Amino acid sequence: MSSTSAQESTAEKIAARELQKKTEQEAKDREKCDKYVRNGLNRNVTVQFLLERLIQLGCPPPPGLIRCVDCGDKPAAGGFGVVEEVQTAPIVQRDGSDSTTPQKKGNCFQTQKEIDSLLSDHREGKVKLKLLPEIFLCQQHLRDETHAHEAMVHELIHAVDMCRTKMEPMTNCIHMACTEIRAENLSGECSWIRELGGGRMSSFAGHGAQCVKRRAALSVKANPNCSEKAEEYVEAAFERCYRDTFPFDRHPNLR
Ligand SMILES: [Zn+2]
Repeated sequence: MSSTSAQESTAEKIAARELQKKTEQEAKDREKCDKYVRNGLNRNVTVQFLLERLIQLGCPPPPGLIRCVDCGDKPAAGGFGVVEEVQTAPIVQRDGSDSTTPQKKGNCFQTQKEIDSLLSDHREGKVKLKLLPEIFLCQQHLRDETHAHEAMVHELIHAVDMCRTKMEPMTNCIHMACTEIRAENLSGECSWIRELGGGRMSSFAGHGAQCVKRRAALSVKANPNCSEKAEEYVEAAFERCYRDTFPFDRHPNLR
């Protein structure tokens, strides 16, 4: 009996304990996130208004439209859409098998590499891409209920945009910049009260615009198709899309 095997079993125990801790934390995060979503659907008038508008626009949200998922280290509060390939020719999967069924996976789990490869297949005409309307919240990155509801409103604005126009945000960077500008602007994520809390009150109207620009550019950068000139796309779309408050009559002052 050597001390090595004793060390190994101690290491195993520590690993098992770590794993258990992680699983417990995940369950807690999920439970909290599910509660935020339920409350958002039941009580948040902006969320309810946007869901009603989706129905009126002819895009009734499927049950379970908004889901909580584990996003790992990806520093996002949520996401919209699952990039799905509509195949025009059978392609060989990375595991070597042939597949004709479209892949469907939460964006949180779609790695940059996977999206890159889908996009390059798209450019070569091997596959067509479409964005499925699904909303997910990254359960471990939600600061509080307000944050969760802002994320829901943000993603619902994307859903409205996808419904009302033939948008192709994955491949058209101006479309993507536009919907990100609207989502940042209308969700209250750049609200002046929030900025005030950060102690940056000077001329809040202009400040809100800067905040929207900065945050929209970050989102556009996440799309490998658009990352290089993200700021330019945001600049090009800004004036028109910042002014566009649809489906609200005017900018919803959320607080
Ligand atoms: Zn967005």
